[in-house]
Amino acid sequence: MGLIVQKFGGTSVANPDRIRNVAKRVARTYDAGNDVVVILSAMAGVTDGLIHLANKMTETPDRRELDVLLATGEQTTAALLSMTLKSMNYPARSLLGFQAEVKTDCAFGNARIVEVGAGQIKNLLTDHNIVVVAGFQGCDTEGNITTLGRGGSDTSAVAIAAALKADKCEIFTDVDGIYTADPNVCNKAKKLSKISCEEMLEMASLGAKVLHLRSVEFALKHHVPVYVRSSFNEEEGTMLINGEQDMERPVVSGITYSKNEARITLKKVPDQPGIAAKIFGPISDANINVDMIIQNTRAGGQTDLTFTVPKNEYQKALDLEREVAQQIGAEDVFGDDNIAKVSVIGVGMKSHSGVAARMFSALAKENINIIMISTSEIRISCVVEQRQAELAVRVLHTAFGLDRE
Ligand code: ADP
Ligand code: ASP
Ligand code: MG
Repeated sequence: MGLIVQKFGGTSVANPDRIRNVAKRVARTYDAGNDVVVILSAMAGVTDGLIHLANKMTETPDRRELDVLLATGEQTTAALLSMTLKSMNYPARSLLGFQAEVKTDCAFGNARIVEVGAGQIKNLLTDHNIVVVAGFQGCDTEGNITTLGRGGSDTSAVAIAAALKADKCEIFTDVDGIYTADPNVCNKAKKLSKISCEEMLEMASLGAKVLHLRSVEFALKHHVPVYVRSSFNEEEGTMLINGEQDMERPVVSGITYSKNEARITLKKVPDQPGIAAKIFGPISDANINVDMIIQNTRAGGQTDLTFTVPKNEYQKALDLEREVAQQIGAEDVFGDDNIAKVSVIGVGMKSHSGVAARMFSALAKENINIIMISTSEIRISCVVEQRQAELAVRVLHTAFGLDRE
């Protein structure tokens, strides 16, 4: 018996039958004597559909109004689940983000949770209700509806679990745990019974969308016990653990990929102090995140500079750099959004050499060209052509001995 937060993702609530299954699962947890708070995503495809609809009205939808629109996806499922539970004679109550006191900053479309009040949730639990909260949404100090960024209902769940000091937070999704690589891309991927928050943070930031990055940050900071499980079976899932795992660990623990990248090159840039600041100043002013940067020196006091940005910021970044190029006298600016970033990740890499060499030779064997490279203590990433991303994941998975027997 305890307080359990259960989050169900888009595929888990994709249609009425699945919502009924979710209701049964929630009811079972409640019948076992637990207090239950449920966090829901929108039905699979609905958020994409709403964005599409907004783009039919205008190419640049107002960000505040877009959040008002996007939040309706989760409002729908929260109401549908609550009415289903009530029809089964369970005391349920749905709450929107603002009613659950999910307070955020005002960055529409990518808001950060600042605080979760949860007073109303606690009162409803005291009266033995099952509380169903619309995920992905919150409210800023002015009372505007905000959304937390794509995939953000994981973060709603973990943040609410943290505020309630829940005994556990279960993330139910369409795979039965966290794997060494996306199991939908690499059929030899292995399910992990546990993973450290440190590694999961890296995996999430490098493309493993099974958990929203900020949900892992919350789990780490507030010591929330998080489990990732399937909503379609009873399999044990993967437990997120705080701190180092066992001493005996593989050097590489996972492979990820992300197609959400684009690169921009400035050709023949004058090689002088202050040039990098001129190139990246406008990008940073526009709140665009730059990830990898490489600079090659040419003869004659000139250099080529290439960097990557998120794909959805590509056009904006390219336009900004065209202006910069004129100001600094660079010869040309061009870019490519047909790329992907493939990464090998492992806390064990800290104490091992040779990981990079093994990665490069495995990719070379399959004729996969490496366009850019970046490294940190616990990961190495390579940019490759987008069409080779999945192949690269599989090749690296095998090369680092991660394949299931
Ligand atoms: P939900 O709608 O339930 O939030 P998501 O689609 O956001 O589900 O996340 C689940 C998906 O994450 C899986 O279907 C899988 O394709 C993908 N995924 C990527 N990397 C991994 C990984 N390492 N382990 C498990 N799933 C992964
Ligand atoms: N419905 C939102 C999305 O599709 C949030 C989520 O599913 O976590 O991104
Ligand atoms: Mg998700």
